[in-house]
Amino acid sequence: MDVLIVGGGIGGLTLALAVHGATPDARIKIFEAAPDVRALGVGINLGPHAVKELSALGLEEKLVAVGCTPQDYAFFTRHGQLVYRQPWGRAAGYRWPHLSIHRGELHRVLLEAVCERLGAESFVAGHRCVAVEQEETRATARFVDAGGRALDACSADIVVACDGIHSAVRAQFFPNEGPFCYRGINLWRGVTRRPPFLTGRSIARIGARHSTLIAYPIRDAIDSAGNQLINWVAEIEREVAAPVDWSKPGRLEDFYPTYRDWTFDWLDVAALIRDADLILSNPMVDRDPLPRWTFGRVTLLGDAAHPMYPQGGNGGAQAIIDAATLARLLARETDPAATLRAYEAERLPATSRIVLQNRTAPPNVIVDTVEQRTGDKRFERLEDVISPDELRGIFERYQKVAGYHVDQVNKQPAPR
Ligand SMILES: Cc1cc2nc3c(=O)[nH]c(=O)nc-3n(C[C@H](O)[C@H](O)[C@H](O)COP(=O)(O)OP(=O)(O)OC[C@H]3O[C@@H](n4cnc5c(N)ncnc54)[C@H](O)[C@@H]3O)c2cc1C
Repeated sequence: MDVLIVGGGIGGLTLALAVHGATPDARIKIFEAAPDVRALGVGINLGPHAVKELSALGLEEKLVAVGCTPQDYAFFTRHGQLVYRQPWGRAAGYRWPHLSIHRGELHRVLLEAVCERLGAESFVAGHRCVAVEQEETRATARFVDAGGRALDACSADIVVACDGIHSAVRAQFFPNEGPFCYRGINLWRGVTRRPPFLTGRSIARIGARHSTLIAYPIRDAIDSAGNQLINWVAEIEREVAAPVDWSKPGRLEDFYPTYRDWTFDWLDVAALIRDADLILSNPMVDRDPLPRWTFGRVTLLGDAAHPMYPQGGNGGAQAIIDAATLARLLARETDPAATLRAYEAERLPATSRIVLQNRTAPPNVIVDTVEQRTGDKRFERLEDVISPDELRGIFERYQKVAGYHVDQVNKQPAPR
């Protein structure tokens, strides 16, 4: 079988590795728009549900070596008061770790594995897909280079569009979708070198609703002083959406005032932000779930299929799970078009639920509930505001829809 993958990001590279692992004689080509590969972005979270798939591809050790594996997940009010904390990753009984990692490192490990296992010629840079066409037995992708000049087209048994949030293939099938859905939250993301906070293996979510900050380490011992690289994401309600660009620099003055007095004895958030090495900015956007992803021998995967709010560490994770699912189905079935339909039937409803949950009940609903009951004031005793059972119930409900409750992840057989 010939498999043509459009887009060499997290989803496309994982798909190439997973198809190669499950169907070693498949001929796989990945066409990436960017002319050269550079480490872009900041940190990304991958829950045990996604690490399980990467582990099945033999990549866990390499990834853990260049990332961090959180042991606890803690929620605080915007006054820095602890609301809920629970063990996380392997410490919570998962059979696989949670991985917090620089997106550039994740991409590098995946690309190196592709070049090693499939051959460097399987990854073709500088090819932007502009259209797909198909006949009964083949699908063809058309490309241009960075200057817009037409390049040779390429045909295969199936084409999988992993071309991300600005997917050209999705736009071809759904030309009237219009702009992204923006509901008033902008993000500023950054990385800062500083000593470990809390356990040194903590994910902290502070605040809710109007302003939130999420912080977690993505690299240990980056210098002789034992500093970690801390990734942070500030979410603030704003009326105007910034352009949707993952690499757009952010300006401190646009968001720092919100966090100026967030100086807690366990983390000086204001200093964390001020001392950043890099700040990027983008709006929190998604798209409505689609009625279908598969059109004959062409389908969508990852952000191209289901762009979602980057809440609860699921954008990259769901792309990885899409890829692993499709590869398993391709190894079993002989009719490519039927396989792509089966993939859609398995993955579209599950990811649509996550897209919708991330809009209405993101993980920080737990803090939101507390802040609403206290009128956004400090509390004396948390148990007068909310019971431990209610807190646990809220968080577990979120995890079940997100697909990474410990029972769900451990119950499913480890992928081969
Ligand atoms: C530059 C960049 C930085 C990011 N930074 C972060 C981050 O810091 N934190 C975070 O949580 N998430 C980040 N993300 C998003 C996160 O990586 C994705 O949500 C997740 O990886 C989903 O994977 P995907 O493969 O669907 O999309 P992506 O990983 O976005 O991959 C899509 C790939 O397709 C390529 N492409 C696009 N259009 C075409 C085309 N027409 N033809 C061929 N190739 C095409 C893109 O160049 C890209 O390599 C970033 C994405 C990008 C592209």
